[in-house]
Amino acid sequence: MTSRASNPAIQAFVRGLSEHPQIGEVLITAKNSGEDCFELRHIDDREEKATALIPCTTEDLREIVATDPQGNFRPLKSSPDLRRGWIAKASTESALWELLNILYPGAIGDWYAQQHQGSRPTSYPDFVGRQSGMYRGASQLSPLETRSLVAGCCSERHCLKQRLWTTEGEATHDASQDLPLLCREPCQLLLELARRTSKMLQEPQVSIELPRSEATALMTILKEQLKRGKPTDRIADFSSPLNPRRIDHLTRRIEQQFPGQTEELGE
Ligand code: SF4
Repeated sequence: MTSRASNPAIQAFVRGLSEHPQIGEVLITAKNSGEDCFELRHIDDREEKATALIPCTTEDLREIVATDPQGNFRPLKSSPDLRRGWIAKASTESALWELLNILYPGAIGDWYAQQHQGSRPTSYPDFVGRQSGMYRGASQLSPLETRSLVAGCCSERHCLKQRLWTTEGEATHDASQDLPLLCREPCQLLLELARRTSKMLQEPQVSIELPRSEATALMTILKEQLKRGKPTDRIADFSSPLNPRRIDHLTRRIEQQFPGQTEELGE
């Protein structure tokens, strides 16, 4: 555990808590002192009495973040599906640091580094250019493919992080915002989707012709499937046609290829 004296990141974070008490889906209440100096709960439980929530230890919290409300494994801790119904307490800044690193690994350190050290995040081409082995294919995607991949995989629907790394044609997020979860480089999930996309693009390609209304119907089906929430498939299993990130990416690829053709559809 990092000690208070050597951890300016958690000190800066705590100083800002009165103004910005939320990070990701977690609400943090700072009390004056004592054993429950900091209280953490899901933001959607803010109106609940503390006694209605289940007190959890550090180990309990590790279990809570491991699965979503349906019991599926959460490979990405920044996905917007943190379970509700718990309450955790920390008596020191060090203990708060530990809890936050379970909820959002590395987030406070990344935020502090970005605010105070001004380090420059990478770009997608530079990052994937350094990959070897199974992820080398990620660097073979065109800028257009990369754009729909990033837009689909990193959308708010799937991830609460604000992307700082760049890719052609896709805007980054504003790092000056209050206590955001920052994404400094592509994660394993995005790399895996990039790898699979690159592999799929080597398959024989097919083309279909549809009346506009049928193309619109197809887009509606894809978007409805996305809205319905998670299928039972594993989130990181991109071999499944029902994988939500895969559907999101596919929808954006179609929209990219036929700009304006599906504009009558709402989100
Ligand atoms: S690469 Fe995208 S999906 Fe992965 S953590 Fe960063 S913003 Fe989230």
